[in-house]
Amino acid sequence: MNHNLFSLLRARFPEEREAPFISTPGGRSLPYSALDELTARLAGALRQLGLARGERLVMLIDKSPEAILLYLAVLRLGAILVPLNTAYTAREFRYFLNDAQPKVVILRPDLDPEQHEAAQDTGARTATLDTCNGGSLPKLAMATHPLDTVEPVNKDDIAAILYTSGTTGQPKGAMLTHGNLASNGLALHRIWGFRPGDVLLHPLPVFHVHGLFVAVHCAMLNGSPMLYLPKFDPALVTDQLPQATVMMGVPTFYSRLLEHEAFNRSACENIRLFISGSAPLLPQTWEAFHRQTGHKILERYGMSEAGMIASNPLDGDRLPGTVGFPLPEIKVRVSDRNGKPLPRGETGVLEVKGPNLFAGYWGKPEMNATEFRADGFFISGDLAVMNDNGRITIVGRDRDLVITGGFNVYPKEVEDCLNQLPGVKESAVIGVPHPDFGEALVALIAGEKNTAPGEQTVITALKRNLAGFKVPRRIIRLDALPKNAMGKVQKNTLRETYADVIKD
Ligand code: AMP
Repeated sequence: MNHNLFSLLRARFPEEREAPFISTPGGRSLPYSALDELTARLAGALRQLGLARGERLVMLIDKSPEAILLYLAVLRLGAILVPLNTAYTAREFRYFLNDAQPKVVILRPDLDPEQHEAAQDTGARTATLDTCNGGSLPKLAMATHPLDTVEPVNKDDIAAILYTSGTTGQPKGAMLTHGNLASNGLALHRIWGFRPGDVLLHPLPVFHVHGLFVAVHCAMLNGSPMLYLPKFDPALVTDQLPQATVMMGVPTFYSRLLEHEAFNRSACENIRLFISGSAPLLPQTWEAFHRQTGHKILERYGMSEAGMIASNPLDGDRLPGTVGFPLPEIKVRVSDRNGKPLPRGETGVLEVKGPNLFAGYWGKPEMNATEFRADGFFISGDLAVMNDNGRITIVGRDRDLVITGGFNVYPKEVEDCLNQLPGVKESAVIGVPHPDFGEALVALIAGEKNTAPGEQTVITALKRNLAGFKVPRRIIRLDALPKNAMGKVQKNTLRETYADVIKD
């Protein structure tokens, strides 16, 4: 049997081949019937550039239908896709190229010349691709014989390398196999109840597990169309929502929709499911969205290394602030730092094992010993607690835990209190170096325009609810918290910026 993910996806193309696969607000539409030929043409061009099974292709292009076709063509060849965010600087880009050692690099034509230079320097073959099917790659594809085979691969063969957000140390490439992607896609397609007639609204970036794998695989396994937006824009999303039945987004999409004046209940009338993930969805946002639209956002939890791990149920209770239950066939446990499983109700490190789990970090076999337990569980680095029914709540990243004067403080507990205060929209609590306490707590709060309360007001309010050692020494007001493309608060940036904020 050929375990190539492309074969699985192709087997799910709709019977009505002229049905749309991707439609853009600009009026472009690609039917499923075009997929076979277009990916075969691209595969032919990539083979011409020297790409073969097991070789890496780095993709540094803007979101476009072609980016998905390129991904599918790489799958067909049994090669390995390495998608990157075009926001990386030339210096960062060089790091990824040196690490991934690609055979082929596909670039946006108007990238910085330094970025083009960096790609040339690796000795890789390069080609360009823009968002309107222009560039040297489509030209080559038209001039080359299509390659209409699907390379036979095993379940354990690598299909993609995703560089983790790398909030500490250097980014590491998580190797995901055809088996990982297929099992996770099939599980999500099932538990989220994809059905005939579904249309997916896709406003996510496609260099990340959420937009590239979760969204695209669910739509394709269902033979469904994707309304494919170049990026998230609240006006565009509001405009497209009536044509869709499912939307996937990161939490900031939902809070920004709520602030958008044209967004209302009637825009959501045809939607059956709003899904959120990649960063914590504040219960306040969940509640406000429910009040305004009647929809209960389904929150799920996952990571580059393991795809999706847990999800709130489609048919059971979707509880704000929790990420629900492990997906079928995925085992999750909460352990102490030494890997000893903890009783239910205790906070510890979430460990995970299953067909979703990646094959290790690219070029770093030594990390297999430090990141995995002897019995194969991966140490996620997230702190979590499981209740008696097995429902999971994520408490934050292990490395964000603050130890002040010997006391452990989970930032989330303090952030939850801060977010309850009038005028506070969101908050981040970090630890900064302190001569006596080792670390001291600092809170950053962001409010609606100038409505965030003052430092003393906040401290007094927190003291009513929290033990003294959990009350931050400083409260700093910001217009907005720094976030990455997936809406994750960049605590490492905050720690650097505010390292000296406590003087005594
Ligand atoms: P990435 O590899 O970029 O997808 O980042 C994965 C990390 O995002 C996880 O390890 C979590 O720390 C965080 N994350 C993803 N989904 C959630 C969620 N629903 N709630 C809280 N944190 C999340």
